[in-house]
Amino acid sequence: MKPLSAKVDVLVVGAGPCGLIAALTLARSGLSVEIVDRAWKASGESFACGLHPGTMDLLEELGMGSGAWEAGLRLDGIGFYDRERRVASAEFERRADRPHHGLLVLPQDQLEERLEEQLLRHHVPVRWGHRLDTSRQEDHSVHAVVEEIGFNAVGYPFARTEEAVVRVREVSARYLIGADGVNSHVRQVEGLHCESTGLPKVYDMIEFKPVGEVEREARITFNPGTVDGFWPLPSWTCRWCLEVPQGADPGGSQGEVVGEEQTGAARQRAQLERRIQARAPWYESGIRDVDWQARVTFARQLAPAFGRGRVWLTGDAAHQTSPLGMQSMNIGLRESVDLARRMAALLGNQATSETLAEYDQERRNEWGRLLGVGSGIKARPGASEWVRTRRQQLLATLPASGPDLTALAGKIGLELCS
Ligand SMILES: Cc1cc2nc3c(=O)[nH]c(=O)nc-3n(C[C@H](O)[C@H](O)[C@H](O)COP(=O)(O)OP(=O)(O)OC[C@H]3O[C@@H](n4cnc5c(N)ncnc54)[C@H](O)[C@@H]3O)c2cc1C
Repeated sequence: MKPLSAKVDVLVVGAGPCGLIAALTLARSGLSVEIVDRAWKASGESFACGLHPGTMDLLEELGMGSGAWEAGLRLDGIGFYDRERRVASAEFERRADRPHHGLLVLPQDQLEERLEEQLLRHHVPVRWGHRLDTSRQEDHSVHAVVEEIGFNAVGYPFARTEEAVVRVREVSARYLIGADGVNSHVRQVEGLHCESTGLPKVYDMIEFKPVGEVEREARITFNPGTVDGFWPLPSWTCRWCLEVPQGADPGGSQGEVVGEEQTGAARQRAQLERRIQARAPWYESGIRDVDWQARVTFARQLAPAFGRGRVWLTGDAAHQTSPLGMQSMNIGLRESVDLARRMAALLGNQATSETLAEYDQERRNEWGRLLGVGSGIKARPGASEWVRTRRQQLLATLPASGPDLTALAGKIGLELCS
């Protein structure tokens, strides 16, 4: 593989889903792009496992719609429960003109694999084991220092290896995209410290094979103090996201997996089943095998700006919310494509730098609403009292964005404020 270029149009930091799709969009526009990630490979985990209808439209535009559609599981709708009582539901829209438009369950690692494959077709390999150290904005470029990580043999009497910086490379880019996740280094270098918009939410995430059949429906269950999500996944697998009530010892740290483990013990399965039954008595499909289980903390936060000058943020680097509606990743994917297209227009002299200021304004408006700090959501006349009193919580659980979110909210009696 050729070494990291010293000069590029855009340097993307972070090869999670948002960085990958930004790099792919830039490469498709004919720009020179490098994408670096400090990890050694993609996450390899299912994490954000649902693709919103709007994300499917984007994948279709990138020529990836049908492949994803075949690998994933299409859901028919979403149901809302007040413990055992079904209180609202909505079917996802089918569109004759867009065969791959819908809510698709596809594990995050499979999406990342597909995006990386597409990038390679454009001769852009992900530079794994490359960590952004510092960056400095100059008049017409960004100067970035990237550390290439390798392994040093250390240890006596037992041989072992340790990560070490083996080379330092300097890159001059016309723009830099920080898609480096919740603890974004790019954001910190730019001094853009996230503002908290509420207490963090902690979830126990459990992926498992059920005993019985499950319907093709995402389900959200409200109990006093908790909101839980159930998602069927491909290959006869399911996911429960059980909220850990405020005040309980959360364990773990922001965005990190703790206690991920293979269980399989009958006792643990029975405990989980009892816990689920207490919150969602409608769930009768049991647990046959637990694939993985983790306690994860999700901050609710927003960067004060999505970037400035020649450095711009996207995805979890700029925002984080609860996982139930799969909004962080999906809206992150949409904004990454938007940002990349704006940069391409700017570098092709088809737009002025005003386009990036608009990106900032539009994204902050959207996230302000989703995180309940801007003009938010209201109940439509005739909406049930149950929906009316839980409208802001409901908004965070809806697996859609943009016009699809407006339509889905409307089906349960809610209206997004402009
Ligand atoms: C266990 C778990 C379960 C989850 N479940 C859900 C869910 O059910 N629903 C949901 O919506 N979301 C869920 N998420 C969150 C979801 O995974 C994120 O929203 C999504 O990954 C964000 O994508 P991203 O591209 O913005 O950032 P990331 O996927 O975090 O990618 C950032 C990348 O940047 C790299 N990086 C960081 N610093 C540097 C540096 N200095 N130099 C180079 N590279 C760097 C990292 O190695 C990483 O690969 C879950 C997360 C976890 C951990």
